[in-house]
Amino acid sequence: MCPIIALAIISVTVTAPRQASVVGDKMTVVIDAGHGGVDGGVEGVNSKVKESDLNLTYAMLLKKLFEQAAFNVVMTRQTSAGLYGAVSKGFKQRDLKERMRIANGVNADLFISVHMNNYSDKSRRGAQVFYKIGDEKSKSLAEYVQESLNDMKESVRVCSTLAGDYYVLNNCNAPAVLCECGFLSSPEDEKLLLDDVYAESLTSAVFLGCVEYLNQAGQTAYQSTT
Ligand SMILES: [Zn+2]
Repeated sequence: MCPIIALAIISVTVTAPRQASVVGDKMTVVIDAGHGGVDGGVEGVNSKVKESDLNLTYAMLLKKLFEQAAFNVVMTRQTSAGLYGAVSKGFKQRDLKERMRIANGVNADLFISVHMNNYSDKSRRGAQVFYKIGDEKSKSLAEYVQESLNDMKESVRVCSTLAGDYYVLNNCNAPAVLCECGFLSSPEDEKLLLDDVYAESLTSAVFLGCVEYLNQAGQTAYQSTT
């Protein structure tokens, strides 16, 4: 990602709110905080933080950024609860289906699922973006977001996007990505992911990648504001 463009977008969205309304006008982004309720996801290697809680923190930061840029933001969840109703047989599938009912029901323009990663090798680090298999728009969106994440000053390695066989990607009508923000199995990544400043930095990178994708796709009027 070109840092000059990134700075320009920040200046539009932060210091010129009237112009910012052009950026996401009438576009709907669905932000999905992965897991929730009895499904806590993975946990922090030292802090034992639940992935589901951290996902929600990052999802809410993304919500704020997109709303500041005048997007219509729909969250799949805004509390620690899951979306499955009663904890009974098939609850995980019901939870995932409900996320897709929400995303496809609002005719989303973009879908972003927020997760934290885990791996047996504790030295594995970094943020990685997955996209809907066989969907060029999702792939392009993932590449913009990944490039933006790789450009972060805290980035420890250059990651490549991967096609992801996930329910929320496979069943989403909109261009869809799943962002694994870092590895909770890595003590170094865990420390960063729990840091408020890093959380702001990472979510800003995801947001800017999305805006750049929309910009090149001609789906925003961003160019006319520069
Ligand atoms: Zn997860």
